[in-house]
Amino acid sequence: LTTSSTGPGVVLRHLRDAGPRSRARIAPDTGLNKATVSSLVAELVERGLVGVGAADRAGAVGRPGPTVDLDGRAVCGIGVELDVGHVAVLVLDLRGEVLLEHRVPVDVAACGSERALDEVAALVRTAVAAAAATGAVPVGATVAVPGLVDDDGVVPVAPNIGWRGVAVRAGLRARLPDLPLPAVENDANLAAIAECVLGPEARTPDLVRLTGGVGVGSGVIVAGRLLRGSSGLSGEVGHFPSGGHDRPCGCGRRGCWEAVVGLGALLRAAADGDRDPLRDPGRDPGDRLDELVARAAAGDPRTVRALTDVGTALGTGAAIMINLLNPRVLVLGGYFADVGPFLLEPFTRELHARVLAPDLAGGRVALSGLGVTAAARGGALVALEPVFDDPTVVPVAPRRTVGVR
Ligand SMILES: [Zn+2]
Repeated sequence: LTTSSTGPGVVLRHLRDAGPRSRARIAPDTGLNKATVSSLVAELVERGLVGVGAADRAGAVGRPGPTVDLDGRAVCGIGVELDVGHVAVLVLDLRGEVLLEHRVPVDVAACGSERALDEVAALVRTAVAAAAATGAVPVGATVAVPGLVDDDGVVPVAPNIGWRGVAVRAGLRARLPDLPLPAVENDANLAAIAECVLGPEARTPDLVRLTGGVGVGSGVIVAGRLLRGSSGLSGEVGHFPSGGHDRPCGCGRRGCWEAVVGLGALLRAAADGDRDPLRDPGRDPGDRLDELVARAAAGDPRTVRALTDVGTALGTGAAIMINLLNPRVLVLGGYFADVGPFLLEPFTRELHARVLAPDLAGGRVALSGLGVTAAARGGALVALEPVFDDPTVVPVAPRRTVGVR
C-alpha cells in the first residue's frame, strides 16, 4: 500500500515490496544516495528489523554487496476476524510469515456482542502470549467485523451478526487495558488490503475485491489507497438493489444483491428441498459449502444451475463496479473463490455483456488464494503498518544475532 514512509521506513517498505537486495541496489531503487542507505540500514539493523546476509549477485556490477532483508523476529502484528460462525486470530511477523493461526467456533449472532468481544479479547491475549514466546513484540492489533465500522471503532450496523451500535473499540479497550488500543475495520476492506500486500496481486494499485460469505462486501483500492469514504462506511455493495427479485435480506430490506449471491442464497438455491443437509443451520457453513462443491464437481444439475445463476447475478453487480471504478484486477474472495471454477464462466460472460469499455476496460478477474483468513491477514498487516511508516517506533534492540532468517 502507498503510505507516507519517511527515513528508514522508505528502505523497510521497499524491502517488503521489492524483496531482499543489496544496499547498492536499494539506493537507485529509492532515489536515496548510497551513504544515506547505509546509515538507514544500520539503524534498521539496530532495531532488529532487517538483517544483512550473503552477497546479492543480481544485477551486480563489480563486487556484489551483501543482501539486506527484513528480519521477522523483532515485531509482529495481530489480526482478529469476527465472522458469523467463528472468531479467528492470525499473527504475522514483519516478513508476513504466520506465527500463529487459531480459530474458535462462535455463533456470534446468538451469543450477543458482549460474549463475542470476550472471545475476541481472549484470542488477542492468546496471540500476545504466543508472540512473547517467540520474542516478537506485538505492535498492534486490528479486528475485522462483518459490517459497517465508523472512524470511532463503533459498528452502527452488522446485519448478519445482528449488531447495531456496538462500540467495539471501547469494549476491547475495557477488556485489554494493558495493550495498545486495537483498531477496528470492515472485514472486506481488510481482505482487500491483504490482496494488495500479499500474493499474486500484490502492489496492484487499482484493485477491487469482492468477498462472498453469508454477506457480500467489497474492498476498493484506488491508486494504492483503500477507499473508505468520508466516515469509513463505503463499499457496502451487498445491499445494492439487484433487479428482478424481492427476497428478504439480513438488513431488513428486500431485493439486495447479497440476498441472491450470498452463501445462504446459494445453499438454499442448490438444496433439494428443506431436508437437504445444505440447508441445515446446525451444520457448519464451511462443511455445507464443501458438500456443495462436491456435488458440483460430480455434475449435479441442480447445483450447477444454482452456481450458474449466482455467477450471472454476481457478474451483473460486479459490472457496475468495473464501470464505476475501472480496476486493474477484480479479485473474487471468500466462498466465491471456493466455487470459482463453476462460477467464472457465467460470471465473465455477464461482465463482458455489461461493462461498457471493451475487454473489461483492460481489467482482469482473479480468484483469491488467501483462503478464509484474508481479513485476519489484512488486520495483521494493518497492525504492522506503523512500523513501515516510521521504524523508530520500535526501540533499539538488545544485541541480537545479525543475519538474514
Ligand atoms: Zn440488504
